[in-house]
Amino acid sequence: MPLKVNLRLLERTPQKLVGELPVVEFAADFHDEVVRFAEPLRYDLEVTRQGPDVLVQGTLSIMLECSCARCLSSFQTRLDINDFSAFVPLAGEEAIPKDGDFADLTPLVREDTFLALPTKPLCRPECRGLPVKAPARDSRLGATPSEVASTSPWAALEKLKL
Ligand SMILES: [Zn+2]
Repeated sequence: MPLKVNLRLLERTPQKLVGELPVVEFAADFHDEVVRFAEPLRYDLEVTRQGPDVLVQGTLSIMLECSCARCLSSFQTRLDINDFSAFVPLAGEEAIPKDGDFADLTPLVREDTFLALPTKPLCRPECRGLPVKAPARDSRLGATPSEVASTSPWAALEKLKL
């Protein structure tokens, strides 16, 4: 079910919208290296008509599957937006998308949810990252002196003499 509010009912009384929005409904084209939506978005919203505008207020919550920015381990964390608030006109360029008697609130919750996503998620605040490994051998300096000697023309000459 898309997240829609009945505008006819809204004219008479504020509308309460509580439910879950499947990830495909609001983030089908979302791709990120470090964050993925693990469950549907839970919403608990009150929609009020204010003259030519609509006020949407409430809470949003969704479980995220993250990849730690320091140690790359995968972990889950819940994103809670407790003070979601959007004020949108019903007409004009900035108008909320409408389908008959219904206005689609999906773009509103989508925008705020995306903006609230962590850009550098950490599995725990004190994560120190991957264990320190021995420095990788630089391939340009990889050959040891003995290897150089064995492949040099002089080494070949030495072998001929023997
Ligand atoms: Zn970590």
